[in-house]
Amino acid sequence: MSTKDMMPNFDLFQPSDIGNATDLLDQYGADAWPLAGGQDSLDWFKDRIKRPVAVIDLAGIPGMTGINVTANGVEIGALTTLTEIAQSTLLRDNYGVLAEAASRVASPQIRNIGTIGGNICQDVRCWYYRSGVDCYRAGGDTCYADTPEGLNREHCLFEADRCVAVTPSDTAPALLALDATMVIQNSDGIREVAAEDFFIGPDVDIERVTVLEPGDILTSIRIPSTWVWCKLLF
Ligand SMILES: Cc1cc2nc3c(=O)[nH]c(=O)nc-3n(C[C@H](O)[C@H](O)[C@H](O)COP(=O)(O)OP(=O)(O)OC[C@H]3O[C@@H](n4cnc5c(N)ncnc54)[C@H](O)[C@@H]3O)c2cc1C
Ligand code: SF4
Repeated sequence: MSTKDMMPNFDLFQPSDIGNATDLLDQYGADAWPLAGGQDSLDWFKDRIKRPVAVIDLAGIPGMTGINVTANGVEIGALTTLTEIAQSTLLRDNYGVLAEAASRVASPQIRNIGTIGGNICQDVRCWYYRSGVDCYRAGGDTCYADTPEGLNREHCLFEADRCVAVTPSDTAPALLALDATMVIQNSDGIREVAAEDFFIGPDVDIERVTVLEPGDILTSIRIPSTWVWCKLLF
C-alpha cells in the first residue's frame, strides 16, 4: 500500500488546559488521538491506516514543556522537543546518554518538531502493520515479519509472542538506563510508572507498546540524579 497523502476527516481539538484534554479523551475513548509534534501521527493519518474521530492537540497545554532541575534530578516536559533535549547543556553534562540518544533520532527537521513524549509513545515501526495488513497486532491471525523472508530487522529477540514488534523509540533505552519515571495523568488523577514498567512487549499486550490506556496523557519524565555520570560508551 502506498502513501496516499490525503488524511481522512477528523475533529481537531486544541485544549488550553489538561483537564479539558482529559475530558475530551474520556468523551471520545478509543476514537481519540493525542497529538504532540505529529511526526509519527501524520504518517498514520495520511496512509489512512489510523482514522481517529477526534485529534486532541496537546501543544496548548501549559506546563508540559521544558527541562527543569528538581530536588532529586530533572523533570522533562513531555512536549519538550528532541532538539531541546539533544542540545541541553544540563542534560549533555549530566545525563549524556539521553542527550546523545535524542540526537540520533531521525533528522534535524523531525527532531525540531518531534517531542520526547511522542518519541516514547509512538507505535511499532513494523512495515507490514504500517501498511495496513491484517496481522496479529491489527487483529488478524498471522505475522508477516516472523518468517525467514520477513523484513524484521527492527523487531525483538526476546519476549516475542505472535507479534515480534516492539517500541522503536531511540530514547527509551536511555530512559531505562537512567531509572526514569513517567508521569501520567487522566481524569482520575496522576500516577507514576517506572520506565522499565512503562514499555510492554507483545507478550503482555499485543496491541500496545506502553502501559498508556485511552484517556491517559504522559505529562513529564522524571530522572533521578543516581546516574549523573552516565555517558554513551560507544
Ligand atoms: C522519517 C522518520 C524517521 C524517524 N526516525 C526515528 C528514529 O530514528 N528514531 C526514533 O526513535 N523515532 C523515529 N521516528 C519516529 C517519531 O516520529 C519521532 O521519534 C518523534 O519523536 C515523534 O514525536 P512527535 O511529538 O512528533 O509524536 P506524535 O506523532 O505527535 O505522537 C506519536 C504517538 O505518541 C502519542 N503521544 C504523543 N505525545 C503523547 C503524550 N504526551 N501522551 C500520550 N500520548 C502521546 C500520540 O498519540 C501518537 O500515538 C521517525 C519518524 C519519521 C517520520
Ligand atoms: S511483527 Fe507484529 S506488527 Fe509486524 S506483522 Fe508481525 S504481528 Fe504484525
